[in-house]
Amino acid sequence: MAECIFCKMAAGEIKPAIVHETDQVLAFRDINPRAPVHVLVIPKKHIATLNDLDAGDTQLAGELLQTAKIVAEMEGLSQNGYRTVINCNAHGGQEVFHLHIHVLGGRAMKWPPG
Ligand code: 5GP
Repeated sequence: MAECIFCKMAAGEIKPAIVHETDQVLAFRDINPRAPVHVLVIPKKHIATLNDLDAGDTQLAGELLQTAKIVAEMEGLSQNGYRTVINCNAHGGQEVFHLHIHVLGGRAMKWPPG
């Protein structure tokens, strides 16, 4: 998608602070961190929202989750714990319409989220 900022990151046209990368997935630091560690995990392929994930994306979805786990390990979050979030559409608070998993950690999270 030409106007998608996360697609531009996946294509290397915009360079975020990359934490981890595979052929299919990119993990980078959020520009406006909401916790001491705040990393976004995205598919390089454009998928607008979680609603748009189809049956053919099952392997990719698994790799996204595996990457969230790897990022947590790399950032030293595994033992104390961390939160993963996928916001979907307006009520979910989604602002960037390219699927991403937030990995948040480094402090205790509150529940329920706002
Ligand atoms: P959403 O609300 O869609 O779940 O989350 C989008 C996230 O993308 C927000 O946490 C926001 O700070 C982050 N974000 C938006 N634009 C950029 C950018 O240009 N670079 C980076 N690294 N993060 C961004």
